[in-house]
Amino acid sequence: MSARIRPDLESIPAYAPGRSSPGAVKLASNESTFGPLPSVAKAIAEETELLNRYPDNGSGELRAALAQFHGVEIANVVIGCGSVALCQELVQITCSSPEDEVLFGWRSFEAYPIVTQIGHATSVQVPLDAEYTHDLDAMAAAVTDRTRLVFVCNPNNPTGTAHGRGALIRFLDAIPDHVVVALDEAYYEYLRLPEADHPNGIEIGRGRPNVVVLRTFSKAYGLAGLRAGYAVGDPELITALLKVHIPFSVNRLAQVAAIACLQARHELLERTDHVVAERDRMRAALAAAGYRVPPSHANFVWLPLGAASADFGAASAEAGVLVRPYGTDGVRVTAGDPHENDRFLAFATAPETVARFVG
Ligand SMILES: *Cc1c(COP(=O)(O)O)cnc(C)c1O
Repeated sequence: MSARIRPDLESIPAYAPGRSSPGAVKLASNESTFGPLPSVAKAIAEETELLNRYPDNGSGELRAALAQFHGVEIANVVIGCGSVALCQELVQITCSSPEDEVLFGWRSFEAYPIVTQIGHATSVQVPLDAEYTHDLDAMAAAVTDRTRLVFVCNPNNPTGTAHGRGALIRFLDAIPDHVVVALDEAYYEYLRLPEADHPNGIEIGRGRPNVVVLRTFSKAYGLAGLRAGYAVGDPELITALLKVHIPFSVNRLAQVAAIACLQARHELLERTDHVVAERDRMRAALAAAGYRVPPSHANFVWLPLGAASADFGAASAEAGVLVRPYGTDGVRVTAGDPHENDRFLAFATAPETVARFVG
C-alpha cells in the first residue's frame, strides 16, 4: 500500500534537475554570468560565523534598506525565499477554493500554473497576442467575480516582451479594485524604454491597494543561488504575506548578501548595460539569419519555433549550448558572456541550422 498523497499532484511534473554537461555553455536559466562582487562575497563570508543562529524571520534590515531604496515604508515591503515563493504566497493569501481563479497570460512564467494548482485554485490562461506580448485587453475582459489574483509578468518570461507605463495604467484602471494584481518585474533592470513610458510598477502601484510588485535579487543582482526576492505593496497585503511565509526561509546569507548588493547597486546595474548590448546583438544576428525574434526587454531572447522547438533545443545542446525549449511554443536563450553568445550564434546561424529551422 502506498502513502496517501493528494491525487491532483500527479499532474504536476516531478522535479527534473536542469541539464548540464561538462564544457557546455549554459544559456538556459536567465542567470547572471558575473559572480558576486568582492564586497558581497565578504559580507557572506563574515555572516557564516553566525550560522548557528536563526535568521531574522522578518528580514528587518533588508526590508528597511529596500524601503529606503524605493521611497516606501517598511510596512510596504516583504521578503521571500526568491520571488517565486512570493508568487506561491500570493495564491495562498488570495485563494481558498477551486472556484477561485488566478489569471495570467500564456505563455508566461512556468511557476504561475504550478503555484495556482498547489494552492487548490484554478488557472485562467489568456493567450499572448500575435507579437508575443500580454493581451491586456483580453486579460481585463477575462476577469470574473471568481478572479482573485492576476499575474502580469513585465517584461514577460519567456518572450521578453514588455508593456509601457501607459498600457499598464489603462489595464489597472480596468481591473476591479478587490482583485489583487501582481506585477512580476523579475527583469525590470533590463528594460530600456523611454523615460516617459518606463513601467516602474512601484510608482504605478502607489495609491492602488490591490497592486503588488515583485522584484528579485536573482537576475540583475546575480544572487540566484542565495534566494532573495521581495514584494512591494499595500501594508494589508504585506501583512497577509507575512502570515503565510515559511518561517526562516530567507536565510542569513541571503539577507546580508542582498543588503550588500543594494549598497553596490550602481556597479551591478552597470553590468546590465553589457547584458542589454549582448541581447540586442543576439537578436540582430538571429533576425539577420531569418529567425523571427520579438523585441526583448529582458536578459534573453525568444525564438518562436513552434513544433521544432524541442529539436532546436536538442541540436543546440549537441553543439555545446544549453538553451530552454518550451513545448511547441518556442525556445528561450539567455544572453550570457560575449564568447558564450558567439558559440550559440555560430550554431544558430550556421547554414545547416538555418536550413533546418528557419521556414
Ligand atoms: C526568475 C523569475 C522569478 C524569480 O526568481 P527567484 O529566483 O525566485 O527570485 C520570478 N518571476 C519570473 C518571471 C522569473 O523569471
